[in-house]
Amino acid sequence: MDFGLTTEQRQIRDMVAEFADEEIVPRAAEIDEEDEFPRDIVDQMAELGLMGMPFPEEYGGADLDYHSYALGLSEIARGSGGLGTVVAAHISLAGNMLYAFGDEEQKQAYLTPLAEGRDIGAFALSEAGAGSDVPAMETTAEKDGDGYVVNGGKLWISNGSVADTVTLFAKTDPDAGNKGISSFVVRPEEDDGFIVEGTEHKLGDKGCPTAELRFDDLYLPAERLLGEEGDGFVQALKTLNGGRITIAARGVGIARASLEAAAEYATERDQFGGPISQFQAIQHKIADMDTKLQAAELLMHKAADLKIKGEPFIKEAAQAKLYASEISREVANEAIQIHGGYGYTKDFPVERFYRDAKLNEIYEGTSEILRNTIAQQVLDK
Ligand SMILES: Cc1cc2nc3c(=O)[nH]c(=O)nc-3n(C[C@H](O)[C@H](O)[C@H](O)COP(=O)(O)OP(=O)(O)OC[C@H]3O[C@@H](n4cnc5c(N)ncnc54)[C@H](O)[C@@H]3O)c2cc1C
Repeated sequence: MDFGLTTEQRQIRDMVAEFADEEIVPRAAEIDEEDEFPRDIVDQMAELGLMGMPFPEEYGGADLDYHSYALGLSEIARGSGGLGTVVAAHISLAGNMLYAFGDEEQKQAYLTPLAEGRDIGAFALSEAGAGSDVPAMETTAEKDGDGYVVNGGKLWISNGSVADTVTLFAKTDPDAGNKGISSFVVRPEEDDGFIVEGTEHKLGDKGCPTAELRFDDLYLPAERLLGEEGDGFVQALKTLNGGRITIAARGVGIARASLEAAAEYATERDQFGGPISQFQAIQHKIADMDTKLQAAELLMHKAADLKIKGEPFIKEAAQAKLYASEISREVANEAIQIHGGYGYTKDFPVERFYRDAKLNEIYEGTSEILRNTIAQQVLDK
């Protein structure tokens, strides 16, 4: 493993960092307060190629390697955790479903507008009774002539209320367990029976609408099926494995924002006749925060490295996501502590970092599920 970034990877990181500092950071508190999808910022990101970072140019993407993509995503999340989710769900989940499992026509029709940022993507897997337990899903897609009729509902779908393209999972054979799940492309604007029931009021992750969806005799023509009937469960797992690298990146970005805010505050806040950064207790917190951040970044790049090389990366992606999720919450917590009473108010951004970080431990595999995955991978060897 090469621990150094290439010139191009540094340039990408610096370009996105500059964009985040100029366009996202100044708006982040407002996005958090209003909880509106920041379409103007998304449009700007599209112009910079950030809505299609890892996809080939032939499908409208920026053709970046996974290190660059993770670095870019972490810089977006450093500015706003909600925007980090918008991009991660759009690219790593919806986009990658189409890139990995779509046929040429589906890629041209649905992936290209996503990668160019003209369309927004969502990935609809979870249901009220089926979060960690994916095969417990109850949404069905019944064969009807040449197409399918979908009935059921999905919960907690990031970008779900603003998406132009939704990759949807439903049971085509309800008696076949995880082998009876198939995936489809849904176009909410074109397809009758796609209903947005509402969006969640959340602790954090504001600006990324998390929607409840209902499907009421939603008709999908046969050409909307992704891959073969029954492939859906394996497709979902493969997509989520890759997605975990970008959720790790979201954690890295939030941890970096927390550390930078804490270090700045510690040098500016005077108590007992000097800056609080003179106290060893504060210095040790800063040291631990930075050490955890560095370790999280290395795990993120290790998983990205294996993915690029086409080697197995299930364990490494789970570890990168698990660790970055937990340390981003810990680092944000210490950032609040360093800010004292001010940290507990909305006058400083660290309370937002804490709320945003918490989500990482829940979506795209809870920390408990990831520990199951890692243990299985270690024990099965
Ligand atoms: C803001 C937000 C955005 C989301 N975005 C999306 C999205 O875009 N698309 C999508 O499909 N889903 C999305 N989700 C759903 C998310 O992936 C699920 O919430 C998550 O998988 C957990 O499922 P659950 O909430 O049903 O919890 P449950 O599965 O009910 O778990 C509850 C608790 O039990 C534990 N648990 C469950 N099973 C086990 C086990 N076998 N071993 C040990 N512990 C276990 C869990 O770790 C957790 O602590 C989102 C969720 C949120 C909150």
